[in-house]
Amino acid sequence: MRKIAILTSGGDAPGMNAAIRAVVRIALHNNLEVMGVRRGYAGLISGDLFRMDRHSVSDIIQRGGTILRTARCSEFKKEEVRQKAANILKAYGVDALIVIGGDGTFTGAKLLSKLGVATIGLPGTIDNDLAYTDYTIGFDTALNTVHDSINKLRDTSTSHDRVSIIEVMGRHCGDIALYSGLAGGAESIIVPEKEYNRDELIRTILDGKNNGKLHNIIILAEGVGGANELAEYVQEISGLETRATILGHIQRGGQPTVADIVLASRLGARAVELLMEGKSARVVGIRNNQVIDDDIDEALAIERRFDNELYEVARILSQ
Ligand code: ADP
Repeated sequence: MRKIAILTSGGDAPGMNAAIRAVVRIALHNNLEVMGVRRGYAGLISGDLFRMDRHSVSDIIQRGGTILRTARCSEFKKEEVRQKAANILKAYGVDALIVIGGDGTFTGAKLLSKLGVATIGLPGTIDNDLAYTDYTIGFDTALNTVHDSINKLRDTSTSHDRVSIIEVMGRHCGDIALYSGLAGGAESIIVPEKEYNRDELIRTILDGKNNGKLHNIIILAEGVGGANELAEYVQEISGLETRATILGHIQRGGQPTVADIVLASRLGARAVELLMEGKSARVVGIRNNQVIDDDIDEALAIERRFDNELYEVARILSQ
């Protein structure tokens, strides 16, 4: 193997740049050539490749987003389109591809590997929705962004005796809501993995107020429903002024935290090593603070386990 390529795909996540930097510098250190692919699989099939050197990744370690840009490309689900991608990589003399993204990106990489391109995946998504790894790149930064917002909203919520409902990302995975809610001392955390009961929510809010709580923060994962509708309901039934805040794409941006930069650097370095060991169709992750790698299909088949114990701790701590 002499030449590798790298791309970012799917939703962007803070720390992707630190991962790109790690891949490029470790590869160059091992005398491999590196090509960057702009705009994910969409850029790959249109031949949007460029040569990267160590200066291509100067000054990006602390930057959010992805210098390679990202895109969604539904065409990549077609075999003939993937064959085109493999042909383009061959034309550039590229033997292997490292992709940074989520489960969709990994599925694309697995299928591409069947066409003779060695592929390795790095988990880049703020949702932390990949079960094979304890943490994904970008999750910690998103948590800190949400935590900061919770603290700001608590100040104003306390001043006005208001209930504050904060909608965070997580369509199928409540990890952002759970961790940020615990860290932010939220009175209620509503996630897709746990059934919730509106009467119980109202009781929690009113009990809190009657027990002298000055604020009431509810963290709602987007997959459960809309914050505006819930705020209207809570205000109507409880009689307390209730405001909804939808954090949206703010959660995706910003300078990555140290935890995300270190994680991205460790995983990026391992991805290059795996290629040098002749491995393909694998994803890199972290388990019990050890860098691990799994077969892509096996990794994607692992069922996600919601941390019920942590959820219970968060509930007790906020009473
Ligand atoms: P994520 O990687 O964050 O899960 P997506 O699900 O949008 O994001 O997937 C990113 C890209 O990966 C898609 O736009 C597509 O190009 C590719 N992809 C997703 N699913 C498949 C699939 N089943 N087969 C081939 N490529 C896929």
